[in-house]
Amino acid sequence: MIRLAFAAALAAMALAGLAAAAPQKDAHKIDFAGSEAVMELGDALGPYSLPKAAQPRSAEWYTFTAVNGSKRPATRVLHAGQPAAEALRILPRPTRPAIVAVASADPGVIVEKAKAFGGRAYLVTVPPETSAPIAVEIANAGSPPSLLAWTEPALAAHNRQLGIFIAAVAGLIFAAAAIAAGLAVMSGHRAPLWAATALGLVLLSRLAATGMFDASLATRVGGPYGLTAAFAGLALAAGARLANAAAPVTGLWPRAGRPFHLGVLGLAVISALAYLGAPAATDLTYLCVVLGSGALAAYLVHCGGRGVRAARMLAPSATVFALVTLAGTLSTLGLLGETTLAPDIGGGFAAAGAVLLALAIAAGEGFAILPGARRHSHHDAHPMALTAIGASHQGIFDLEFGDDVVVLSREAAALLGLGEAEGRMPHGAWLARIHDEDRPVYEEALSNFRSQSGLAFRIEFRARSQSGRYPWFELRATMMGDGACASRCLGLIADITARKESEPAADSAQNDALTGLPNRAALLARLKAMGAGLRAAVLALLDIDRFKAIHASLGDEGADAVLARASERLKDRFGADAEVYRFGGDAFALLFSQPKANAAAIGAQIAETCAGAYAQGGRSVFAPASIGVAEGRQAEGGEALAKNAELALMRAKRDGGGCARVFEPSMNGEKPVDPVALEAELRAALERDEIELYYQPIVRLASEAVAGFEALARWRHPTRGLIAPKDFIAHSEETGFIVELGRFTLERAARDLAQWQRFFPVDPPLFVSVNISRRQLRDPAFERLLKQALDGSGVLSGTLKLEVTESAIDADAQDALHRVREIGAGLAIDDFGVGQSSLSRLKDIPFDTVKIDQSFISRPEAVSGEGAVVLRSIVALAHELKRDVVAEGVETADDARRVRDIGCEFAQGFYFSPPLSLADALNYVARRYGLKQSAKNASGAAGLGGQT
Ligand code: C2E
Ligand code: CA
Ligand code: CA
Repeated sequence: MIRLAFAAALAAMALAGLAAAAPQKDAHKIDFAGSEAVMELGDALGPYSLPKAAQPRSAEWYTFTAVNGSKRPATRVLHAGQPAAEALRILPRPTRPAIVAVASADPGVIVEKAKAFGGRAYLVTVPPETSAPIAVEIANAGSPPSLLAWTEPALAAHNRQLGIFIAAVAGLIFAAAAIAAGLAVMSGHRAPLWAATALGLVLLSRLAATGMFDASLATRVGGPYGLTAAFAGLALAAGARLANAAAPVTGLWPRAGRPFHLGVLGLAVISALAYLGAPAATDLTYLCVVLGSGALAAYLVHCGGRGVRAARMLAPSATVFALVTLAGTLSTLGLLGETTLAPDIGGGFAAAGAVLLALAIAAGEGFAILPGARRHSHHDAHPMALTAIGASHQGIFDLEFGDDVVVLSREAAALLGLGEAEGRMPHGAWLARIHDEDRPVYEEALSNFRSQSGLAFRIEFRARSQSGRYPWFELRATMMGDGACASRCLGLIADITARKESEPAADSAQNDALTGLPNRAALLARLKAMGAGLRAAVLALLDIDRFKAIHASLGDEGADAVLARASERLKDRFGADAEVYRFGGDAFALLFSQPKANAAAIGAQIAETCAGAYAQGGRSVFAPASIGVAEGRQAEGGEALAKNAELALMRAKRDGGGCARVFEPSMNGEKPVDPVALEAELRAALERDEIELYYQPIVRLASEAVAGFEALARWRHPTRGLIAPKDFIAHSEETGFIVELGRFTLERAARDLAQWQRFFPVDPPLFVSVNISRRQLRDPAFERLLKQALDGSGVLSGTLKLEVTESAIDADAQDALHRVREIGAGLAIDDFGVGQSSLSRLKDIPFDTVKIDQSFISRPEAVSGEGAVVLRSIVALAHELKRDVVAEGVETADDARRVRDIGCEFAQGFYFSPPLSLADALNYVARRYGLKQSAKNASGAAGLGGQT
């Protein structure tokens, strides 16, 4: 009421002024009876200033003179227009221009609110043959202001058309977005998802521009201009994501991945700032949108030109969008002349672009050329096989000659450190990754084989990974195509760096550089040359059992020295009767052409020869070996003999190593473990709950009471029975599956320990130690996982220990171990003494327990003499550092007494107990502690009742 009165007062003052001023102002005359459907009054408006004090609002008064020369009353609808560049002010206005009030000094002039045209329009009727001064108060008017005067029918028609037009545009864009969204949901792929997101945002931006959200909460913050800009900026960000999904930027510029993602993030941030009405953010967003959409279109056109089919399909719609934004900007800047229609035309083209985009996405999915879309060659692959391929550190390599595009499956891309979307690249980009030295080989192979459709081949080369390294890859592929000339090359790509590095460099003399021994190729050539003489021969293969551990703790030089010593020893002992070969990294072969003993005896002699310690750097290093022996009379030829010996060697390894086995024909049935199948089986086993934890008691020697347990994984195989970790842990470490397996063991062990601690609240509390592989420590999620396991189970702090071998502790791991301690886990160094590290080297590592390797306890030569001295000094030093010592592998009463005498406080071994199932482990504790202690805990007693 007061406001109205106030406005009326202001209007009266304005009119008073007008009445005086109007007659002189000819320039401001507007012909209300004219035939133009719409007139822009902006130029005819004269500012009218009220005294400053009386002007409390951001609105301003303007005046003009309405002339009606006709014989009938003339009516016009007035409403505020949007001056050009209004959106591009440093601080955009919080609301759009609007008429607040209209008044006239001429009592014949009728002013009324034009409800039919929205609250902000006014109907002004001027009597016949009258010239009347009119005052208009406009809020947020630009300078120059814009005021439109429509004839009633024209405005009605315009609004009707505009309504239909906006609905059509919005409907089309919506339909396009819906199509893309539907495809995204059905396929789960990223390209349609980003397309749908971009289109949805384009739609919102269009709607915001028409003022649909003006009265809503959305524009309260940064005003309508900020909101529109924010939607446009986010639409571009999503569009950039889409373009990257279709044609990864890293395909063109390998290092651009990170800058690209940061750029997109930056754009999103700027858009958000525009929404919040931050100064200049709206302008900056529009600038990004114009330049960015142009750049995107250019990028897609370029990639399309280089053969990326997905880019080719997206390029037209991107170009349309780029033109739309450009036109939109020009019209916003007032450079396209008449402003009333330009935005709507822009809307129409935006709809066209949206439809084009949806069509491209739909077609891309249909032709299966969008990244992630299923490729026809994979249809026939069994899903299990695909999982297995993924799990076995190899991936699919697919080169399309037509498009000259390489597509790497997610797994293959991961081998190079690339994301899934980046696995698609022009062949040129792939070639650029291949090592300079290997590129000619690769190119030659492809060009030679291309003409031989159906040919399967295998090549090795190095390629640059994201980290800048050049791992070795093996590509086993087939040239595919209907005609003589292959249209694509499809195959498996695997990282073979580890194998390559352990391979001795090929030597033309077939001699191994380190040991001077002839190598594997020389052996195979010799076997071939033996002809009939082969039947009398015996071939023994030997492989050092824990060479990896030796290598890890002694380093390259130490490991090489051990190999050299081993070869010396073999030559000394057998040189007279046998030829000695270096068969591989840590494997040797002995060929007895006229054996003096039978195969079993030969095997036993070799095992004995390898069992002795090597003096290395003032320490004893044990490098026991497994031996496989095969007799020539059981083999068809040289290669078969070597294969038989390998089978026997495998058996020796399976039997625990450090022993010899002689080939028997029945071993032929034992196929070498197929790593791909094993991996898939293991995953399934974990899902089916076939992996169990066994617990081996760790006993306090003073009282022989159980102090804790070591958790050891077992695989309860439905047909093969209980499988020991040696048959799956090393493999899981190689493939990385250990990370998942490790998560399971950690959680299960924590859960079981928490239960025991509830049942047996003894002091000090029971502990459980869990074996952790190096790979797990490197897993970025490991610490979170550990924390969850500890917090979730509620075990007492420090009672869940991680067992880590000394070889797993490198500089990286040290930090991780400190954090592990902070989280509240204990830490034990496992298998201590196998390597060369001294305890003092480890003093900075926050471990609380040392586990002395079983080889120290059970070997006669380790027990007496030198070994015993080493053992004593380890224990003494550990105690000085305030660490506990656990002796592993205690098998007899004698062992137990000896380790106690030396000063170990804990022991673990078959003498006390083998690893036990969960139920047996509970019984074991219950027997040692009796139920009296646990009687405090009623639920504990009840729980045990069932188990005993
Ligand atoms: P480890 O950590 O050295 O574990 C001790 C191994 O010695 C166990 O073999 C145990 O059964 C065996 N053992 C215990 N007492 C005696 C004894 O008196 N004499 C002899 N000769 N052997 C004894 P197991 O269970 O076959 O485990 C073998 C290895 O597998 C473990 O060696 C550990 O390195 C690894 N492992 C087992 N479970 C896991 C697991 O959950 N995660 C990881 N990362 N590794 C595991
Ligand atoms: Ca262990
Ligand atoms: Ca151990």
